[in-house]
Amino acid sequence: AKESDRLDAKLVRSREMYGKAREHLCNGVASSYQLRDPWPIYVDHGEGSRVWDVDGNEYYDFHNGFGAMVQGHANPVIGEAVNKRFAKGTHFALPDEDDFVVAGELSERFGLPKWRYTNSGSESTMDAIRIARAYTHRDPIMKIFGSYHGHHDAVMISIAEDYDKIGDRLHLRSLPYGAGIPAATIPLTVPVPFNDAEALEHRIVEMEGEGNAPACLIMEACLMNMSIVPPEPGYLEAVRDITTRHGMVLIFDEVKTGLTIGPGGATKLFGVRPDMVTMAKALGGGLPMGAIGGTEEVMSVVESGEVYQVGTYSGNPLCVAAARANLEKVLTPDAYDHFDHLNKRLMDGCTEVVHRYGFPGYAVGFGAKGCVTFSPHKIVDYVTFRQGQRSDLNQLCWLYAMNRGVFMTPGREEEWTLSVAHDDKACDAYINAFAEMAHDLMS
Ligand code: PLP
Repeated sequence: AKESDRLDAKLVRSREMYGKAREHLCNGVASSYQLRDPWPIYVDHGEGSRVWDVDGNEYYDFHNGFGAMVQGHANPVIGEAVNKRFAKGTHFALPDEDDFVVAGELSERFGLPKWRYTNSGSESTMDAIRIARAYTHRDPIMKIFGSYHGHHDAVMISIAEDYDKIGDRLHLRSLPYGAGIPAATIPLTVPVPFNDAEALEHRIVEMEGEGNAPACLIMEACLMNMSIVPPEPGYLEAVRDITTRHGMVLIFDEVKTGLTIGPGGATKLFGVRPDMVTMAKALGGGLPMGAIGGTEEVMSVVESGEVYQVGTYSGNPLCVAAARANLEKVLTPDAYDHFDHLNKRLMDGCTEVVHRYGFPGYAVGFGAKGCVTFSPHKIVDYVTFRQGQRSDLNQLCWLYAMNRGVFMTPGREEEWTLSVAHDDKACDAYINAFAEMAHDLMS
């Protein structure tokens, strides 16, 4: 309560703005993910690794716009590309050179030859699922229990259930996440546990027996929405083998992992090639841009015109110009060395705190992404996450960070994202805030 009151006392202007914002903006925010109890934090500006709210509070930004801002705020390289493009016109709904240069760069990084663009992660997963359905002529899809893939009907299933609803791991129920999802679509999305290839095959065989063979499995190769849960050795290889044998499309959702955990995302880091990847967030240099990549075979349903992969703003010139500058000039091999250096410093620092105070948690991360998982045991899937995770500690950690000038992603399941503008000082601020919390709590 003390830390909570302390933060509220720093957010006076935000509170005033909230009063005005609520009049015509639902809850005073543009998206429900921007809510904070008792009122949201209204932002003023960002520069490099830092962000300032309307009260003038300055923070090192580890939230980084839910993991989009790996290039840092107001990055001049992106700024120059966007300004140049703006001067030549911002929207035509026609292809330009940047479109195929970016596609070529993504092909190189992810090892998938064919690409299309969207405007967000949700659009990317929505289109990828449609392509997989068209390619296989099957309707049901599979996803990992507890995972998030955006806000359209097919994937707003079995995301954050109460533990008591989970039931038998082999017979996980398809549960809608929030209202407004048609009852008829719910059973078309079938959840399976992460890191359990046997359960996956068992469920596929069961579905085939019922005449409901699945079109695809959509998954993050390394889970990023229940803290960070890496794949166990051999799991992704087994998933690849199973999905191939059962004629399914394997989609790696790289909206969070792509371009952050390594230059070629989880696909290259873990060395298992999916049939498709979906991307957004870090791709667009801070502008709304998504992409879908796939094999020649799977993407043939787009090229033949069978699937309408469309959108007025898909491949918007401003966004693609920003993505090109981001890929060519910002996310260079040096940037990934920088992420690795900083992430090691952060994880080592947090691990030292965990050991010093006998704290129930451990640090985990790759590239620009990492977190302290607050659990006394290792988390391997959603069930172990719900059993172990300490949302009270997450909330406290967030408050300690915010009160010490460190903007961390809110939510028990989120992780930090580094940018090329972060430095040792920013990481030490994070570690010090965490150490202070551990000290106050454990001593
Ligand atoms: N897929 C994953 C793995 C995500 O984490 C998210 C968003 O957090 C999405 C898809 C949806 O992306 P967007 O919010 O851009 O629609």
